[in-house]
Amino acid sequence: MAINTPITIAYGDGIGPEILTATLAVLHAAKAQITTETIEVGEKIYRQGYTSGIPDDAWQSLQRTHILLKGPITTPQGGGYKSLNVTLRKTLGLFANVRPCTSYYPFISTHYPHVDLVIIRENEEDTYAGIEHRQTDDTYQCLKLISRPGCERVVHYAFEYARKFNRKKVTCLTKDNIMKMTDGLFHRVFNEIATEYPDIQAEHLIVDIGTALVATQPERFDVIVTPNLYGDILSDVAAQITGSVGLAGSANIGNHVAMFEAIHGSAPDIAGKHIANPSGLLNAAVQMLIHINQPETATLIENAWLKTLEEGIHTADIYNTQHSKEKASTERFTQAIIERLGQQPSHFKPVHYKTGAYARIECYGERKRAVATKVLVGVDIFLDNATDSPNQLAEKIKTLSESLQLITITSRGLKIWPQITGEISNIHHCCCRFQSTSDLKHLTPITYAEVLRLLVKLNQLGLDVIKTENLYTFDGEPGFTLAQGQ
Ligand code: NAD
Repeated sequence: MAINTPITIAYGDGIGPEILTATLAVLHAAKAQITTETIEVGEKIYRQGYTSGIPDDAWQSLQRTHILLKGPITTPQGGGYKSLNVTLRKTLGLFANVRPCTSYYPFISTHYPHVDLVIIRENEEDTYAGIEHRQTDDTYQCLKLISRPGCERVVHYAFEYARKFNRKKVTCLTKDNIMKMTDGLFHRVFNEIATEYPDIQAEHLIVDIGTALVATQPERFDVIVTPNLYGDILSDVAAQITGSVGLAGSANIGNHVAMFEAIHGSAPDIAGKHIANPSGLLNAAVQMLIHINQPETATLIENAWLKTLEEGIHTADIYNTQHSKEKASTERFTQAIIERLGQQPSHFKPVHYKTGAYARIECYGERKRAVATKVLVGVDIFLDNATDSPNQLAEKIKTLSESLQLITITSRGLKIWPQITGEISNIHHCCCRFQSTSDLKHLTPITYAEVLRLLVKLNQLGLDVIKTENLYTFDGEPGFTLAQGQ
């Protein structure tokens, strides 16, 4: 007899209990080999004073089962509440967000009948580290952090996913024409890893034209891999154009734990009305079954669900006069799927997830490579400069250090000294770049003590230092960008 896989379930808020009850009914009717343990997450837990939305004992369940099937939750506004999803992703190391986007034309109306793409979004880094500061009265910053292991994990995952699911092409989307270092790293890692998968076509597009193409020619894409913020926006664009926002599920994959959920929210406007569509969570459960190596059950359920759509049994959100035969409640729709377990769709191509083909993909991003020699060669000192013109400021600070030369002053990336290169509306937020020499090819080492001495002198002049950023070379290559106009 097969051994049941323990999974943790969380009903969540709003329509969460209705759609998880429906999903579990289908899983049990299909004889999924699972046992469930329930945890409480979401609004009630936030109100009990857990700002993360998850109580301490829930983590123990996840450490036992390593799998979470979760209903959507309501994040209360204000009050310092943190997004539960972001907390789960980061705490559990869920590095890849996998979101299939498929058209179910003609039963679900869409202008794009042939969409079948999968977005794999990096899930832990980028601006989603949420490291933000107010630096001057009117300027705020958000740090964008991209690491080599973070890129390697998700890019490697995307290629492994493509191979396992018989997909032909992986497209990488970045904005490395502007963010040459952070997005540039993502693109470089993509190019490196692509060479290990000669059987899969690899392409890179700048994310703006890439998103425009997803919105207008989605059929040209197969698997897309992209950093966190772009992936977040893009996956909603892709889901929306298939007309199936209420139908899509997503997987958040880590090496030890994985979380499965619908892409929509808790829909408080329809909670308790028995009209919620359980398809998004059910499709997430299909992804879960594949992940826990029960592909036969995944196949059984997805085919029964496709058959139900084809037969025009539709919940209110997807009901249309042309193809719907029955406006079904959540419970009736669920029952219709259960009744069709074992049947194949006739319009849609039946799915067939093969046994043994989808072993869990583990990606650690710890490729061996020589560690670069890192040398301190300068410092960017950011000031809140309320009073001085660029020339006055330069006169004050350019002779403060014997070993560090003032190279340039910039304001939000634009050079304002030695010459102003554009029209400047606000120079409160400015960055004074000091280097050991002005010649980038012959930068010489400095000590951090020299930086500290310079900072003390700036402080003695009454200047408001808001931040410093050390300038390094790595194997002789500058690890920093030049200012616009430098
Ligand atoms: P939503 O996705 O909950 O609802 C948007 C619209 O779609 C509503 O009209 C709703 O009735 C409808 N809808 C959504 N799912 C449906 C379904 N399964 N069947 C039928 N209709 C459905 O988005 P929202 O209103 O912006 O957010 C509501 C709450 O959900 C917010 O508190 C938000 O923070 C939260 N949220 C949670 C998650 C999550 O837990 N993963 C994701 C997104 C939003």
